[in-house]
Amino acid sequence: MNIQDLIRPTIKALKPYSSARDEFQGNSDDMVFLDANENPFENGVNRYPDPQQRTVKSLLSEIKGIPVKNILLGNGSDEVLDLIFRAFCEPNQDNIITLPPTYGMYSVLANINAVEIKRVQLDDDFQPKVDTILNEADTKSKLLFLCSPNNPTGNSFEAIAIEKLIKEFKGIVVIDEAYIDFSNEESWVSRLNEFPNLIVTQTLSKAYGMAGIRLGICFASEAIISVLNRIKPPYNVNELTQQKAILQLEQNELTKQQVLDILQARDVLISKLNLVDFIFKIYPTDANFVLVKVDDATKRYNQLIEKGIVIRNRTTQPGCENCLRFTIGTPEENKILIDTLNSI
Ligand code: PMP
Repeated sequence: MNIQDLIRPTIKALKPYSSARDEFQGNSDDMVFLDANENPFENGVNRYPDPQQRTVKSLLSEIKGIPVKNILLGNGSDEVLDLIFRAFCEPNQDNIITLPPTYGMYSVLANINAVEIKRVQLDDDFQPKVDTILNEADTKSKLLFLCSPNNPTGNSFEAIAIEKLIKEFKGIVVIDEAYIDFSNEESWVSRLNEFPNLIVTQTLSKAYGMAGIRLGICFASEAIISVLNRIKPPYNVNELTQQKAILQLEQNELTKQQVLDILQARDVLISKLNLVDFIFKIYPTDANFVLVKVDDATKRYNQLIEKGIVIRNRTTQPGCENCLRFTIGTPEENKILIDTLNSI
């Protein structure tokens, strides 16, 4: 498959904007910067940030074992996903495939970008129906979104199904690994070299505990990363985000410990949820949340809100009738949740 054939002609022909700091690539020590119309008085953020986020990328490269040239960063993975649409999907012409119940932004971004959505519902075990997906795809199907571990169901997709889809789908396969750091499954980033049509997205919003700084990660072949680099806003990752991310990534042991703590708290929560009389089913989860089926999701959701607890009611999603999604909180928060569930 030739990736160049999948890129929108407009994007292929684009002459990207070149910012002041893109043009000057030298060592910044001892230079006088009069190139970017900044305010010269130092306050920590008076200069534009590094448009290529070199320090953040080199730390991520070490942690994930992926070369910097295969990494693009965005303002959350939501921005990364939007860039992918704009690179590959021709408005009012192309389509994408999503597998509901899944993360809602794929279809919102498709609607924003005027791209048709083909939906192939997951099976009863929330696994992709591989043959149905491949049959549904046509020559205008540019993107296939696989969210694994999947939000809101929590399970990972079987590796064998994912591999078949990557090999046989004629467009780009985007594996959204927002929750991968909570899972024992291996990330698909280790297999980027095998599949030119694979994009893997991750984020610092979940396991890394940095939803507030908005830092999303895209791993892909150099060919794909260079297309996305052409269309990203010049300074899409701000200075404060880069500084915070560097500090956090330098103490990666803390993140690992927090993930273990969350997983332990998840086990405790699930054992207690098992005893709640109106919870009929607890779905297997590889993420920092758990989906449960209850007698009446909307009634239980409203009762929890009245008691000051906000969760997610997923009942309107196909396959999630009467389902609620609980994020794993601190042990104290989880206890409040359990006590409240037992009292309503
Ligand atoms: N993908 C999935 C599956 C998510 O659940 C979320 C956030 N809820 C995102 C992506 C977006 O993450 P970010 O904060 O990096 O934009």
